[in-house]
This record gives sequence, structure tokens and C-alpha cells, in this order.
Amino acid sequence: MSDARSFWVAGQAAVGERTFEVRHPYDGRLVASVSVPTPAQVDAAVSAARAVADEAAAMPAYARAEALHHVANRLAERSEEIARLITAENGKPVKWARGEVTRAISTFRWAAEEARRWSGDLQRLDTDPAAVGRIALTRRFPRGPVLAIAPFNFPLNLVAHKVAPAIAVGAPVIIKPAPKTPLSALVLGELLAETALPAGMWSVLPLPNEETAALVTDPRLPVVSFTGSGPVGWAIQKTVPHKHVTLELGGNAAAVVCPDWSSEADLDVAAGRIATFATYQAGQSCISVQRVIADRSIAGALAARVAAAVAAQRTGDPWDDSTDVGPLIDEAAAIRVQSWVDEAVAAGARVLTGGTRDGATVAPTVLVDVPADAKVSCEEVFGPVLVIEAVDGVDAAFARVNDSRYGLQAGVFTRDLQIAFRAHRELEVGGVVIGDVPSYRADQMPYGGVKESGVGREGVRYAMEDYTYERVLVLTGL
Ligand code: NAD
Repeated sequence: MSDARSFWVAGQAAVGERTFEVRHPYDGRLVASVSVPTPAQVDAAVSAARAVADEAAAMPAYARAEALHHVANRLAERSEEIARLITAENGKPVKWARGEVTRAISTFRWAAEEARRWSGDLQRLDTDPAAVGRIALTRRFPRGPVLAIAPFNFPLNLVAHKVAPAIAVGAPVIIKPAPKTPLSALVLGELLAETALPAGMWSVLPLPNEETAALVTDPRLPVVSFTGSGPVGWAIQKTVPHKHVTLELGGNAAAVVCPDWSSEADLDVAAGRIATFATYQAGQSCISVQRVIADRSIAGALAARVAAAVAAQRTGDPWDDSTDVGPLIDEAAAIRVQSWVDEAVAAGARVLTGGTRDGATVAPTVLVDVPADAKVSCEEVFGPVLVIEAVDGVDAAFARVNDSRYGLQAGVFTRDLQIAFRAHRELEVGGVVIGDVPSYRADQMPYGGVKESGVGREGVRYAMEDYTYERVLVLTGL
């Protein structure tokens, strides 16, 4: 099909022999046809990445930084167009799509700055009498080309979180966007094509799920950076145990509201933040607030406020600037989320607001009295559904946070410094946010999970560390 979107093989636009369709989640209209790379084109992309690896690693810092700044600048110039493309493919309200573009700009800028700082260490060895006269230099070198597999929920910024650090360290990268949302990654290819990066350094291959296996097992791609669902991520790690695999997977993030967070104003703040970040992007964020664990002294007042704030949200057309909650990625996802809500209700849960579905759109839903083993509590919902529970004291609250297979981030509403430090020590998560929801993320901070939420860290500098390894140079006779 001649009007299908082309993909990128070794920096060149290309088309394959087949296409697939990208449809708008809100009304199912055709957004674009996308050309699918053939196995030969996939092989060409990997060969080019391998062939250019030494040249890429030797690129001067200023050149890597210039390329990254160029992408950031061009994202800024084309921001409204790209935000609308994200809404078209993903269905998230356009106001959230604009926020995603802003974050992707920041991710590229951080990577440009880190590329300039990226250096090594000098270590003295004469701390031991036998090593007098020796020093050690350490530098990090790329492990090799990176396979970057991205999910649908942040189709631009989660691609940026893999591409920008790879360029910053001089590693070639093969981008494999999610099949539902490949369009913003393909536009990112246009911006990369405007840079002076060596052509083989990057490719964007929009492959269906079942055609990704050959890339995962290809020995020329020693690093797999995967963001997506747990079963797929852990299966990848099992398939290629000798590769360097980072997994950014799902969660059922909790916000703890402590007894000291109890004034009317405090409760209003917590309720507003929780309502927004339980339902933004229709709950399709890995650190969306799914569980609120509130001290019993304030739980009732908090739940009433959260329910009122959620009920006031505008649900519907993602193109409307005032829409808060749009559709899920497709109707199948909405049917699954609704079935989990129904299961909880059948087991005794009470619906404070929501609890219904219209096509791919699930009404933002707040539940209380949910049994601990209901899926909406212990699995990852990935929908606009919030469970509020009351506990007695901080010990019980922290135990409930940790009573999860997942551990991505936790939020703790408190002003008590002792509780804050305790949360940092005791909560089994990759990040603790004090005074806010678990959904807070700055693109430069270390980000990732423990337990079934994954291994490794993103956040520009931390991904740069993952894509490289340290090699020491010992100098003798100095
Ligand atoms: P998914 O696992 O279905 O797909 C993710 C990517 O993996 C896609 O590009 C897909 O094409 C690819 N893929 C699918 N099957 C594959 C296979 N067998 N081999 C290789 N690649 C394969 O996930 P999704 O539905 O796109 O994304 C939602 C999930 O992502 C949620 O679980 C969410 O929590 C998680 N997520 C995690 C983070 C994080 O940073 N921790 C961020 C965003 C999303």
C-alpha cells in the first residue's frame, strides 16, 4: 500500500511488503496504515547496528550532545502536531499527550547534558603498600547495540527513555515500538534522520508482537531494554539469560495517607492528587494510584473527598481540552477492567462512584470494602479504578504496601520526618514519594522496580549505566 507509513532501517526510510492498521481507541477510525519490515530488513537493521558500534562508541561527546539537543529542539517545534499524533494512536486526552511531549523534550535535553558529563573515575591504589606506584582509571564502554522494546502507554517518552541514553553513551539502538502506537516513534525517526548520527546507529522497526522473537534472540544485540507487561518481560529474560536485560514492568502502586495528614486542607490536597493520578491516562500508567491505604481516623473523610473529585472528572472525547479521562487502548482492555470491577463487587466491594463501561471507556471508579484477594487490589488493573482501604496505624499501612508481588513506587502523605525515613527504609519499592502520590516521576531520577515490577533502572543517567560496563585501566610505575 503506497500510502502506508514507512519505517526506518539504519537511518533510511523503508517500506516492507505488508501493512497493519493503527486505529483511534475512542471511535475506531483508521489513523494510519503502517508498513511492516520484512525479515531481511530486520536483519539489515541489526547488521548495520553491529557494524557501526565502534564508530558510534568513538563519537565525540559534543557530537552526541548536539544530536540529542537537535531532537529536543525539533520535538519542541513540532510539539502540538506530535501531541495530537499521540492522542490519535493512544487515545489519551490531548492535555496529557502535550505533557508527554514536554517530558520527552526534557529526556533528550538531560541526555545531551549527561553525554557531556559522561566520564570516568581515577582511583588511587596506593592504599596498600604492595600497590604503591599504581593508579586505576575507570571508564564505561557500551555493551553493544541496544534492543529497545516499548509499550503503548507513553509511546513517545518511553521510547525517548531508551533512545536518548543509548545515543548519549554512543550505543546503536533498534527501536521496537508497540504495535498499537508506533506513529510517534516513527516521527522520532524523522528527527533522528535530521542529525549527523551515523546512519546505522538507529532503526525504528514497527513489528507485530509475534515477529519480535528473532530480535530478542539475535546475538548481535547484547542489551535488551524492555518496558511492558510482566509475563512478556520475564519470558524475555528467561529466553536470553546471558544478555543484559532490563525490565520495566507493571505494578499496583499504593498511596499511604498517615494520621498526621488530617486537616481539611491536607485531605483536600491528598484527595485531589489521588483522584487525578488514579485516573489520568485512564489509569494506564505503571505508577497510577491503584490502592489508597488510609489511617482509619481519616479514611472515611478522605474517601468521600476522593469519590467527589473522581465523580467530577470529565470522561469522553480525548480531543476535547477539558476531558480528563479518555478511552482505554481498546475495548478488550475495557471489558477486562470492567470484569475485575464486577468480580470485586460480587465479593462485597462497594462502588462510591463509577463502576460502568461504555465501549472502550471505563467510568473512573472508586471502590471500598474490597477483599484483599480481589484482582482490583492485588493485580495490576491498568484502568481508572481505585481501591481505598482503612488500616490502623503506620505499621499496618506499610505492611499492606509491601503485601504485593509488585514494587515500583509508593506515595506517603506525611509531614513526619521519622515516618518519611522509615518509609524509605521499609517500603519494598524502587521509589518513595513523600507528600504526594506514587505517580510522580521526573525523567532524570532513577526509576524502576523490585519484585515482579522488574530489574534495572531507567532515568537518563541510570539507563546510560545499564547500557555500558566499566572497564578498568591499571597504570603501573607512576
Ligand atoms: P506488552 O508487554 O503487551 O508490550 C510491550 C512491548 O513488548 C510491545 O512493543 C510489544 O510489541 C512487545 N512484545 C509483546 N510480546 C512480545 C514478545 N513475545 N517478545 C518480545 N516483545 C514482545 O505491554 P503493553 O500492553 O504495551 O504495556 C502495558 C504494560 O507496560 C503494563 O503492564 C505497564 O505497567 C507496563 N509499563 C511499565 C512501565 C515501567 O516503566 N515500569 C512503564 C509503562 C508501562
